[in-house]
Amino acid sequence: MSQQHMGYEPDLNGPEFWYKAFPIARGSRQSPVEITFSQSEYDSSLKPLKLSYDPGAAKRIVNNGHSFNVEFDDSTDRSVLSGGPLTENYRLIQFHFHWGCSGSQGSEHIVDGKQYAAELHLVHWNTKYESFKVAVTKDDGLAVIGILLEVGSANSGLEKVVNVLSKIETKGKDAVFTDFDPICLLPESMEFYTYNGSLTTPPLLECVTWIVLQKPISVSNEQMEKFYSLYFTSAGESPAKHMVSNWRPVQPLCGRTIRRSFE
Ligand SMILES: [Zn+2]
Repeated sequence: MSQQHMGYEPDLNGPEFWYKAFPIARGSRQSPVEITFSQSEYDSSLKPLKLSYDPGAAKRIVNNGHSFNVEFDDSTDRSVLSGGPLTENYRLIQFHFHWGCSGSQGSEHIVDGKQYAAELHLVHWNTKYESFKVAVTKDDGLAVIGILLEVGSANSGLEKVVNVLSKIETKGKDAVFTDFDPICLLPESMEFYTYNGSLTTPPLLECVTWIVLQKPISVSNEQMEKFYSLYFTSAGESPAKHMVSNWRPVQPLCGRTIRRSFE
């Protein structure tokens, strides 16, 4: 199975098959994981998260056949994450989502027994390395903020994103996407859980410091419908397949500690 053929179809190319081409899928530092308040440890030494994003650094939105990425200019320190568990500066390169086919599933991390409708990943790379490509080969290469989406009222911060999705319905399509500050996608509370894990899509590299926010943001059913209306497949490809359930199930903790910023 090549990376192009990796997908989310249960009997064909879904997460349970990924280990065949990517043996690290069965490694000891995989993501996502199940997070519980009672099994995590409060760490008073964790600092507040510091996010400084430049709306002008947003460039493009692209359907990559697994999700859609909103890409940022990461050639300089325009949009930077530091603090929390991090000792260095991490630059924003893209954000994307994972979702289900209904509001009762879709997130990758499970928090206190609950799976949410979707999960946002803000992907940053450690600027002590020369590029994203080098960073993913390092233990401390990436810092990803995970934000859970819970079905409820419409999220005004998400409107600009969901309204552009009709332009990138099929695999390979892209559109200009500028003047967007991801700060509008954050919940009021920035309390978080943190642990060492991996990418949740092939090549599943174990390079991620995960920062999963405790509080979800809201999304309406109407907004989720626009996610469900995307396609995994290219224009004209038959049969067309809707982009739904593009999430990986939770992986074993293998003795890892999950720390939290709040008592
Ligand atoms: Zn992701």
